[in-house]
Amino acid sequence: MSRLHGKVALITGGNAGIGEAIATLFAQEGAAVTITGRRKDRLERVIGEIGQRGGRALAVAGSVTDETHAREAVAQTVRTFGRLDILVNNAGIGDFGKKIHEMDDATWQRMLDVNVTGVFRMTRAAIPEMLKAGGGAIINISSVASLVGLPMLPAYAASKGALDALTRAIAVDYAAQGIRCNVVNPGLIETPMAESLLSDPARTTEVLRQYLIARPGKPEEVAKLVLYLASDDASWVTGGTFTIDGGMTAH
Ligand code: NDP
Repeated sequence: MSRLHGKVALITGGNAGIGEAIATLFAQEGAAVTITGRRKDRLERVIGEIGQRGGRALAVAGSVTDETHAREAVAQTVRTFGRLDILVNNAGIGDFGKKIHEMDDATWQRMLDVNVTGVFRMTRAAIPEMLKAGGGAIINISSVASLVGLPMLPAYAASKGALDALTRAIAVDYAAQGIRCNVVNPGLIETPMAESLLSDPARTTEVLRQYLIARPGKPEEVAKLVLYLASDDASWVTGGTFTIDGGMTAH
């Protein structure tokens, strides 16, 4: 089965965690994929692994906060693969463990720069190519932190809430031109971002008490939902908010 046959996808933060799982699955499903991120060694490893399995992958190193990088990532994708159909805004950072009165300006600003302005930059760069291709799909990776109040992550929650709102705004503005935009809100997923929590069994048990399916999710499980939203199977799906959280927000 090749659900993305002939499609070209750009995945930010594709060198680790959820982004790596998305890039790997998309390539398996026939897409040519560009991955971005700041760490070159990790980018090279992921595109090497995709290539060994017969997939087509390109790495463009840089930060989503850098306008030149955003344009270059899109331009290199189009030069290499001929078009751009899918953008997954996955790159993100977390900074957990502080209440708002303990937070400095730099932490607040960095979170908004990467998690919100980064999505703005990448999406602004990608949309003209999607318009040329006659449509496209954008999937933003948010968090359950945008949907329910969680302790000690005010800047992260604010950044992800903005991302959910931005998703709907993009969906409204481009539906007539065939570009769909949806947001995925994962709960706790086993990735490097969650490592400090997951390496503390007592805290993990406490957090998982809120999950109907009492285990962390896997990056590959998120990737399958993102694949659906990127594929033509989701041709009537736009502006939607998709939780994938083991039932955490259901009660
Ligand atoms: P990881 O920390 O494992 O991976 C983050 C990825 O983003 C890496 O590829 C990293 O690459 C990249 N990245 C970070 N900053 C930048 C930047 N400025 N420019 C470009 N790339 C960047 O995190 P996850 O895989 O867990 O997270 C992926 C997304 O999922 C994030 O948006 C996160 O908020 C969200 N999420 C994660 C959850 C979890 O429990 N893990 C739960 C809910 C949502 P590099 O460092 O090389 O730049």
